[in-house]
Amino acid sequence: MESRLIQGNTYVLDLGILDLPYYKINETDIILLDTGYMKDHREKLAEFFTANRLQVKGILCSHAHIDHVGNAQFFKEKYGALVAMAQEEANIVHSTLGLKIFYSTYPLSKVEEHYGHMVVQTDLPISSQETSVTLCGVTFELLHTPGHSIGHMVITTPDKVSYLGDALISEDVMASAKMPYAYLLKEDLASKVSLYALKSDWYVLAHKGVYPDIRDLITDNIYFYRQRAEEVLRLVTEKMTQEDILKAAAKTMGFRVGSINKYLVVERMLRSYLDYLVETGKLILTLDAGFLKYINPNERNMED
Ligand SMILES: [Zn+2]
Repeated sequence: MESRLIQGNTYVLDLGILDLPYYKINETDIILLDTGYMKDHREKLAEFFTANRLQVKGILCSHAHIDHVGNAQFFKEKYGALVAMAQEEANIVHSTLGLKIFYSTYPLSKVEEHYGHMVVQTDLPISSQETSVTLCGVTFELLHTPGHSIGHMVITTPDKVSYLGDALISEDVMASAKMPYAYLLKEDLASKVSLYALKSDWYVLAHKGVYPDIRDLITDNIYFYRQRAEEVLRLVTEKMTQEDILKAAAKTMGFRVGSINKYLVVERMLRSYLDYLVETGKLILTLDAGFLKYINPNERNMED
């Protein structure tokens, strides 16, 4: 696994599908910005830290998704690391019951089985009013960017390196993403606009890459997410339930829903696009013979 110096004491680890930054407090102690997947990254990271005589003293999470918080509890136990993240995210991963609220369509036993390892007690919950956090004596600037997840934050290290987490995705990821994830798409787009004001020397995307400038990438991301919403809108050709639209999306956009986990992810993604289209007045939500249905007011065959 390659570790690359970005600037000052800020480094990035190349984990293949994602970039994971860390901040060196001194020769042996580091603060991790996110923690990767349990399955693919736990061993790799632990081996790297051992081989380089590094100790994880702090963990600052951009948000509590499975590929960002997957090893937080593990490193907390192994090194006694202090964990910091936004209060809203901390609440979700506080317990399997918190996770059950998030993964609401999944039975609790399945939540425990698949997502139980995400549970971690946050030592430093960060409120949405706080614009910086001091962890292990190091102060990081924070930009709250809700949308991709409720409490998503962009973290800037003292070296003027901004870690964007999943607030933006790279051109490569856009090229292969069928329906990129945003829990609250309207808020996510507003957060993406707020990124224009960032003035850092370097920007790190979780998925993925290190950039000296992100202005064009912000514009492309906003355009891309909006385009995807327009594509979802075009799927609604008659009064349709969410399942109807999901079926149409799978066919038209060409993704395979091959497992219950995949279904849950796709269903969650689609719902946020539908919410966005309702919130922006492009779709109307209605009750039709006891079923929740979506209407596209611009489509002709919406009559009964
Ligand atoms: Zn995420």
